[in-house]
Amino acid sequence: MKLKIAIQKSGRLSEDSLKLLKECGIDIAAGGGKLRTEASNFPLEAYFLRDDDIPKYVQDGVADIGIVGENVLLEQGNQLTVVQPLGFGKCRLSLAVAKGYDYQSVYDLQGKKIATSYPNILRRFLQKSDVQAHIHEISGSVEIAPGIGLADAICDLVSSGSTLFSNGLKEVEKVMVSEAVLVANPLLGIEGKKILDKLVFRINAVLKSRKNKYILLNAPNEKLESICAVLPGMKSPTIVPLAMSGWSSVHSVVQEDDFWQIIDSLQAAGAEGILVVPIEKMIV
Ligand code: ATP
Ligand code: ZN
Repeated sequence: MKLKIAIQKSGRLSEDSLKLLKECGIDIAAGGGKLRTEASNFPLEAYFLRDDDIPKYVQDGVADIGIVGENVLLEQGNQLTVVQPLGFGKCRLSLAVAKGYDYQSVYDLQGKKIATSYPNILRRFLQKSDVQAHIHEISGSVEIAPGIGLADAICDLVSSGSTLFSNGLKEVEKVMVSEAVLVANPLLGIEGKKILDKLVFRINAVLKSRKNKYILLNAPNEKLESICAVLPGMKSPTIVPLAMSGWSSVHSVVQEDDFWQIIDSLQAAGAEGILVVPIEKMIV
């Protein structure tokens, strides 16, 4: 059996989805307008679809699993199992108004016309604050709606905010944050589940490795204690003597988030010749 995965055909999630699979050692020949293709070295078959169609295909069992933004899932309200977040496709769904508007609170939206492609999420958000507004559903180019007099505000996906800015808008409320997630049909059979577990194991190894760096440094032996105190490591740092007596080489793994802070502390503690190397896979 082959596990069927639905991936966005062309858009913001396509490249990162394929890259993730590739880093999991799964070769999928995408492109050429193909709708479907099989991996050559893993029991996986990929379907290339519009992102909005992915939850339904997985729900109906046409595909077993899929990669889609949380924003799409929440808007459609499907009963899918979220297997795991994937760390890419990060964005937020936000409300924005004209730059010059003196926005104070969500109550400023009372009675206003808001253009969005996410009417369900927006409706729930407004309901929570007891704000009544006219939701005008449009499927694309939402950001131009205020400029052409179609709406007073918009509710749209934002990542850097530059699209809002260039359309004379400012972000005023964050409705939700989103990233790409791996979803599965809840009724996946035993065999399919086995392949999925194998895939998830590999995905975890790739995601962990992306968040961590391997670090090597040299230090005089009397400084080792204070250097090791800075380094977390997977278990503890590896210490190997150098050919030059009285010196050692220290190896460890550090998280990208605290990376620069650790480097500063290491230098202050007397580390020299610090090397930082990307990790390809991390199995812990
Ligand atoms: P399709 O043709 O597949 O329907 P689309 O135009 O609806 O594509 P894209 O713009 O490619 O969709 O976005 C796909 C997903 O990427 C979004 O649903 C969201 O989860 C994520 N995303 C990340 N950053 C952004 C952003 N700045 N704007 C829009 N979507 C983003
Ligand atoms: Zn779409």
